[in-house]
Amino acid sequence: MQVGAENLGPIKLGESKLGLITARIAAASRAAGRDPAAVSLLAASKGQTIDAMVRLAAQGQRAFGENYVQEALPKMAALADLNLSWHFIGRLQANKTREIATRFSWVHSVDRPRLAWRLNEQRPDHLPPLDCCIEVNISGEASKSGVVHAHALADLVAAFRPLARLRLRGFMALPALTPDPDLQRAGFRRLRELLASHAGALDTLSMGTSVDYAAAIAEGATIVRIGTALFGPRGRDRPPT
Ligand SMILES: *Cc1c(COP(=O)(O)O)cnc(C)c1O
Repeated sequence: MQVGAENLGPIKLGESKLGLITARIAAASRAAGRDPAAVSLLAASKGQTIDAMVRLAAQGQRAFGENYVQEALPKMAALADLNLSWHFIGRLQANKTREIATRFSWVHSVDRPRLAWRLNEQRPDHLPPLDCCIEVNISGEASKSGVVHAHALADLVAAFRPLARLRLRGFMALPALTPDPDLQRAGFRRLRELLASHAGALDTLSMGTSVDYAAAIAEGATIVRIGTALFGPRGRDRPPT
């Protein structure tokens, strides 16, 4: 008997991806001896339409990651009734921190003390502390943002300590893209080891995208940020950051 898509029943194209990715995240977690509930899926929605986000939300997805404030604001307005949680995952610019501090629940890309100070100052008192990750430039590529040197990372971790309106949760990285699972894991392992060396209250490893999330989960990712594998290709012609 032939085993094919017909045996899966009438799954509509484009509506089954969340279930598929969720199942793969669970499988990768179990293969690594980890509890699937310890890995959460952040839908990286830059360049995706509001309609596509509504469809994903209707299937239960709550956490969305955006890279550009000017793209996120109209999406937040259109989806305001859906009780979503918004994560800023793009390159942080000082002139955008006020909107980020006011409208997002998480920022994954803090890479300088000055940005942490601004976010802390601008986080409104009526909101809970802003959950933050420090972005680490694991590959050292000049085109990437993120902290490169261990001493700068230690300084930035220390800079968070007095900032009561921020909660440092852990580290984020976008290692060099490679199809080789061993090389993928090597980059993620470095981030895990860096987090372990800063033991304390840090509980978050934000790492893994459409192409390498299984390797990231094998190395301890607690948040995977997945765009194209979840939504299909991005509609807008913007470079990923
Ligand atoms: C775009 C983006 C992602 C998702 O990338 P995909 O390849 O679409 O899964 C994850 N993290 C960051 C920081 C991004 O900018």
